[in-house]
Amino acid sequence: MTDEQIYESDKRDYLPVFARYQIVLDHGEGVYVYDTHGKKYVDFLGGIAVNVLGHNHPALVKAVAEQAGKMIHCSNLYYTQVQADAAEKLTKLSGFGKVFFGNSGAEANEGAIKVARKYAHTISPDKSQIITALHSFHGRTLATLTATGQPKYQEGFGPLPAGFDYVEYNNIEALEKMMSENTAAVMLEPIQGEGGVHVPTAEYLKKVRALCDKYNAVLIFDEIQTGIGRSGEFFAYDKFGVKPDVVTLAKGLAGGVPIGAFITSDKIADVLHAGDHGSTFGGNPLACAAADVVLATVGNEAFLKHVEEMGDYMKSRLEAIKAKFPTLVKEVRGVGLILGMEINKPGRDIVNACLEKGSIINCTAGNVLRFVPPLIVEKEHIDEVCDILEAVLPAYVD
Ligand SMILES: *Cc1c(COP(=O)(O)O)cnc(C)c1O
Repeated sequence: MTDEQIYESDKRDYLPVFARYQIVLDHGEGVYVYDTHGKKYVDFLGGIAVNVLGHNHPALVKAVAEQAGKMIHCSNLYYTQVQADAAEKLTKLSGFGKVFFGNSGAEANEGAIKVARKYAHTISPDKSQIITALHSFHGRTLATLTATGQPKYQEGFGPLPAGFDYVEYNNIEALEKMMSENTAAVMLEPIQGEGGVHVPTAEYLKKVRALCDKYNAVLIFDEIQTGIGRSGEFFAYDKFGVKPDVVTLAKGLAGGVPIGAFITSDKIADVLHAGDHGSTFGGNPLACAAADVVLATVGNEAFLKHVEEMGDYMKSRLEAIKAKFPTLVKEVRGVGLILGMEINKPGRDIVNACLEKGSIINCTAGNVLRFVPPLIVEKEHIDEVCDILEAVLPAYVD
C-alpha cells in the first residue's frame, strides 16, 4: 500500500479516535524511527514514554524472539519462571509488596482501585470515596475515565461509576477539606504527565501521605508514565521520598510489549483471595520476558544516573531556548526525562513543523510541548531535537 492508500484505509476501516500525524512509520533503530520513504526522525516521544530502551534494542529483541519460540502464552493457572523473575525484580526495586500483571495502564489502575476499595470495605461499608486530582490522567476504561479529573474525557459516557471526587493538584488544604474516615483512597500521579508535566512539591506529597495515614486511606501513585526510571529514580516517588501503598506501572515496563502492573503493600494484598481479581493475558511469558530485560537494564544505578544527567542537560537546553524566546515560552518543567515546555499558544503546529524537520515530539494539554524520549538518549540526540526546535520557533513568535 502507498501512504495515501493507508490513510484511506484508516479513514474507512479504523475508529476515528486518534488525531494522527501524516506519516507512516516503518521501523526504528535506537533513538531513531524511519518512515516508509526512509526519512529519519529522532524520536523524543518514544511511543509516549514506552520505548525506554529505544527501538530494536538487541537484548530486548533477543529475549522476545527466544520466548516467542518457546511459549508465547500460558494461563495464569500455571507458574512460569519469567513471571516469577519479573515480579521478584519489581518487589526488589519497590522494596515492598506484591505484584499483579495486567495488559495496560488503565487496567493496572482498575486493579489498584479495586484493591483499595476491597481493603477499605474491610474497615467500613461506607469507606468507598476515591479522591483524584484535577487535570490528572488515569486511563480510558469507565472507572479510570472517572478517576481522570478532566471532564472533556468523560462527556457522553455516563452514568459513570460513583464515589469519585476531585481536588486541585499540589494543594494540601483542598485535599484536607475533602478527606474523612470514608475516604478509601487518594490516587495521584507523582508528576502529572498528560495534564501538562506538573511537578508537585515534596512537602505536598509528604502531607498527602500523612493525611492518608490519619484516615487509613490507601495512597495510590499512578507511575504509569513517571515510573521505570523516567525521573532519574526507578520510581518517581523516590525523588520525593514518599512511599505509596499501591503503585501502578505500564508504559515503559516491557519496552513496548503491552503490559501493566500494580504493586500493593502486603497489608492490602492480604484482603485478596483466589478469584478476587484476574486476567487472561496479564503477565504472560512474552510480556514478562520483555519486562525482565527492561527491569534488569533500567533498574541499576548507572543507568538511572544517565537518565538524570541527560534530563539535566536537556532541561538546561530548554531553559536556554526559553530565554531566547521569552514572549513565546512561558515555562520549562519536569525532572529527568519527562520534560515539558509551556508556550503561549496551541502547540500542534510547532509539533508538525518539528516533524517536517525530522524530530518527533508531542503536545499535551493543548500548549505544552512534551519530551519523553527513550531513556538511552545521548547529548547528541538532545542537541538534534533542541536545534530543530530552536530553528522552528521564530515563526511562532508574535
Ligand atoms: C498512559 C497513562 C495511563 C493509561 O495507560 P493505557 O496503557 O493507555 O491504558 C494511565 N495513567 C497515566 C499516568 C498515563 O500516563
